[in-house]
Amino acid sequence: VEESYIMIKPDGVQRGLVGEIISRFEKKGFKLKGLKLFECPKELAEVCFLSTGFRNFGYSVHVEIEDCVVLKRALQGSELQAFLSQLISYITSGPVVCMAWEGVGVVASARKLIGATNPLQAEPGTIRGDLAVQTGRNVVHGSDSPENGKREIALWFKEGELT
Ligand code: ATP
Repeated sequence: VEESYIMIKPDGVQRGLVGEIISRFEKKGFKLKGLKLFECPKELAEVCFLSTGFRNFGYSVHVEIEDCVVLKRALQGSELQAFLSQLISYITSGPVVCMAWEGVGVVASARKLIGATNPLQAEPGTIRGDLAVQTGRNVVHGSDSPENGKREIALWFKEGELT
Protein backbone atom coordinates (compact mmCIF):
# COMPACT_ATOMS: atom_id res chain seq x y z
CA VAL A 1 0.00 0.00 0.00
CA GLU A 2 1.19 3.51 -0.75
CA GLU A 3 2.56 5.60 2.12
CA SER A 4 3.53 9.23 2.53
CA TYR A 5 5.72 10.88 5.13
CA ILE A 6 4.04 14.09 6.24
CA MET A 7 5.75 16.40 8.69
CA ILE A 8 4.44 19.50 10.45
CA LYS A 9 7.43 21.83 10.59
CA PRO A 10 8.41 23.85 13.69
CA ASP A 11 6.42 26.93 12.61
CA GLY A 12 3.27 24.82 12.26
CA VAL A 13 3.74 23.40 15.76
CA GLN A 14 4.58 26.80 17.28
CA ARG A 15 1.54 28.42 15.68
CA GLY A 16 -0.80 25.78 17.05
CA LEU A 17 -1.76 24.33 13.65
CA VAL A 18 -1.20 20.64 14.49
CA GLY A 19 -4.88 19.75 14.98
CA GLU A 20 -5.97 21.70 11.89
CA ILE A 21 -3.40 19.98 9.67
CA ILE A 22 -3.99 16.45 10.95
CA SER A 23 -7.71 16.98 10.58
CA ARG A 24 -7.39 17.70 6.85
CA PHE A 25 -5.71 14.33 6.22
CA GLU A 26 -8.18 12.51 8.48
CA LYS A 27 -11.21 14.05 6.80
CA LYS A 28 -9.84 13.22 3.36
CA GLY A 29 -9.91 9.57 4.44
CA PHE A 30 -6.27 8.50 4.72
CA LYS A 31 -5.11 6.13 7.42
CA LEU A 32 -2.70 7.28 10.13
CA LYS A 33 0.08 4.71 10.67
CA GLY A 34 2.50 6.70 12.83
CA LEU A 35 2.56 9.97 14.77
CA LYS A 36 5.08 11.61 17.10
CA LEU A 37 6.37 14.93 18.39
CA PHE A 38 10.10 14.98 17.72
CA GLU A 39 13.16 17.21 18.00
CA CYS A 40 14.97 16.75 14.69
CA PRO A 41 18.71 16.10 15.20
CA LYS A 42 21.01 18.29 13.10
CA GLU A 43 22.43 15.23 11.28
CA LEU A 44 18.97 14.15 10.09
CA ALA A 45 18.16 17.70 8.97
CA GLU A 46 21.36 17.72 6.91
CA VAL A 47 20.45 14.49 5.15
CA CYS A 48 16.96 15.70 4.41
CA PHE A 49 17.93 19.06 2.99
CA LEU A 50 21.01 18.19 0.90
CA SER A 51 18.89 17.22 -2.14
CA THR A 52 16.74 20.34 -1.78
CA GLY A 53 19.88 22.44 -1.49
CA PHE A 54 21.36 21.01 -4.66
CA ARG A 55 18.06 21.40 -6.51
CA ASN A 56 17.90 25.08 -5.58
CA PHE A 57 21.36 25.51 -7.06
CA GLY A 58 20.37 23.79 -10.29
CA TYR A 59 21.75 20.29 -9.64
CA SER A 60 19.63 17.17 -9.65
CA VAL A 61 21.11 14.68 -7.21
CA HIS A 62 19.78 12.03 -4.92
CA VAL A 63 21.65 12.15 -1.63
CA GLU A 64 21.90 9.12 0.65
CA ILE A 65 22.91 9.27 4.31
CA GLU A 66 26.30 7.73 3.53
CA ASP A 67 27.19 10.61 1.18
CA CYS A 68 26.37 13.25 3.74
CA VAL A 69 29.69 13.71 5.57
CA VAL A 70 31.75 13.83 2.36
CA LEU A 71 29.36 16.26 0.67
CA LYS A 72 29.23 18.57 3.66
CA ARG A 73 33.03 18.80 3.72
CA ALA A 74 33.11 19.57 -0.03
CA LEU A 75 30.52 22.31 0.40
CA GLN A 76 32.22 24.18 3.23
CA GLY A 77 32.30 27.93 2.69
CA SER A 78 30.07 27.77 -0.41
CA GLU A 79 26.82 29.66 -1.02
CA LEU A 80 25.01 26.33 -1.06
CA GLN A 81 26.37 25.62 2.43
CA ALA A 82 24.95 28.94 3.66
CA PHE A 83 21.53 28.15 2.15
CA LEU A 84 21.61 24.68 3.75
CA SER A 85 22.43 26.17 7.15
CA GLN A 86 19.28 28.30 6.92
CA LEU A 87 17.11 25.30 6.09
CA ILE A 88 18.70 23.28 8.88
CA SER A 89 18.22 25.98 11.51
CA TYR A 90 14.57 26.28 10.43
CA ILE A 91 13.79 22.59 10.81
CA THR A 92 15.72 22.27 14.10
CA SER A 93 14.23 25.47 15.59
CA GLY A 94 11.62 23.52 17.59
CA PRO A 95 9.78 20.21 17.70
CA VAL A 96 8.20 18.81 14.53
CA VAL A 97 5.27 16.40 14.22
CA CYS A 98 6.20 13.32 12.17
CA MET A 99 3.40 11.37 10.51
CA ALA A 100 3.07 8.29 8.33
CA TRP A 101 -0.13 8.21 6.27
CA GLU A 102 -1.36 5.31 4.15
CA GLY A 103 -3.86 5.04 1.31
CA VAL A 104 -4.34 4.63 -2.43
CA GLY A 105 -2.77 7.63 -4.14
CA VAL A 106 -1.83 9.21 -0.81
CA VAL A 107 1.44 10.77 -2.06
CA ALA A 108 -0.02 12.86 -4.89
CA SER A 109 -3.18 13.61 -2.96
CA ALA A 110 -1.23 14.84 0.07
CA ARG A 111 0.82 17.13 -2.20
CA LYS A 112 -2.47 18.59 -3.48
CA LEU A 113 -3.81 19.05 0.05
CA ILE A 114 -0.52 20.76 1.02
CA GLY A 115 -0.30 23.09 -2.01
CA ALA A 116 2.63 24.76 -3.80
CA THR A 117 6.02 25.15 -2.08
CA ASN A 118 5.66 28.94 -2.13
CA PRO A 119 2.55 29.62 -0.03
CA LEU A 120 1.81 32.79 -2.03
CA GLN A 121 1.35 30.57 -5.09
CA ALA A 122 -0.57 27.87 -3.23
CA GLU A 123 -4.30 27.73 -4.02
CA PRO A 124 -6.80 28.77 -1.36
CA GLY A 125 -8.18 25.61 0.21
CA THR A 126 -4.73 24.03 0.47
CA ILE A 127 -2.84 23.96 3.77
CA ARG A 128 -0.13 26.36 2.61
CA GLY A 129 -2.64 28.44 0.64
CA ASP A 130 -4.75 28.94 3.75
CA LEU A 131 -2.15 29.03 6.52
CA ALA A 132 1.21 30.36 5.30
CA VAL A 133 2.92 33.20 3.42
CA GLN A 134 6.65 32.35 3.27
CA THR A 135 8.49 29.52 1.47
CA GLY A 136 10.88 29.37 4.39
CA ARG A 137 7.94 28.96 6.82
CA ASN A 138 5.61 26.74 4.84
CA VAL A 139 4.35 24.69 7.82
CA VAL A 140 4.33 21.20 6.35
CA HIS A 141 6.31 18.70 4.28
CA GLY A 142 4.99 15.86 2.14
CA SER A 143 6.88 13.11 0.27
CA ASP A 144 7.22 13.71 -3.47
CA SER A 145 6.99 10.07 -4.64
CA PRO A 146 5.82 6.70 -3.26
CA GLU A 147 9.48 5.58 -3.13
CA ASN A 148 10.45 8.60 -1.08
CA GLY A 149 7.38 8.05 1.10
CA LYS A 150 8.72 4.66 2.16
CA ARG A 151 12.29 5.92 2.42
CA GLU A 152 11.38 8.92 4.58
CA ILE A 153 9.12 6.91 6.89
CA ALA A 154 12.02 4.49 7.48
CA LEU A 155 14.32 7.44 8.12
CA TRP A 156 12.12 9.24 10.65
CA PHE A 157 10.43 6.33 12.47
CA LYS A 158 11.70 3.29 14.33
CA GLU A 159 9.88 0.03 13.63
CA GLY A 160 7.95 -0.20 16.91
CA GLU A 161 6.56 3.30 16.37
CA LEU A 162 4.42 2.31 13.39
CA THR A 163 1.18 0.33 13.44
P1 ATP B 1 8.66 19.85 1.07
O1 ATP B 1 9.79 18.95 0.64
O2 ATP B 1 8.90 20.55 2.37
O3 ATP B 1 7.31 19.20 0.97
P2 ATP B 1 8.63 20.96 -1.48
O4 ATP B 1 8.84 19.58 -1.98
O5 ATP B 1 7.38 21.66 -1.86
O6 ATP B 1 8.65 21.03 0.07
P3 ATP B 1 11.45 21.52 -1.95
O7 ATP B 1 11.95 22.25 -3.13
O8 ATP B 1 11.69 20.07 -1.80
O9 ATP B 1 9.88 21.87 -1.82
O10 ATP B 1 12.05 22.27 -0.67
C1 ATP B 1 11.97 21.70 0.60
C2 ATP B 1 11.75 22.78 1.64
O11 ATP B 1 12.90 23.60 1.74
C3 ATP B 1 10.61 23.73 1.33
O12 ATP B 1 9.37 23.23 1.74
C4 ATP B 1 11.01 24.95 2.12
O13 ATP B 1 10.67 24.80 3.49
C5 ATP B 1 12.51 24.94 2.00
N1 ATP B 1 12.93 25.79 0.88
C6 ATP B 1 13.10 25.41 -0.40
N2 ATP B 1 13.49 26.44 -1.16
C7 ATP B 1 13.57 27.51 -0.35
C8 ATP B 1 13.90 28.89 -0.52
N3 ATP B 1 14.25 29.36 -1.70
N4 ATP B 1 13.85 29.69 0.57
C9 ATP B 1 13.53 29.22 1.77
N5 ATP B 1 13.20 27.93 2.00
C10 ATP B 1 13.22 27.09 0.97
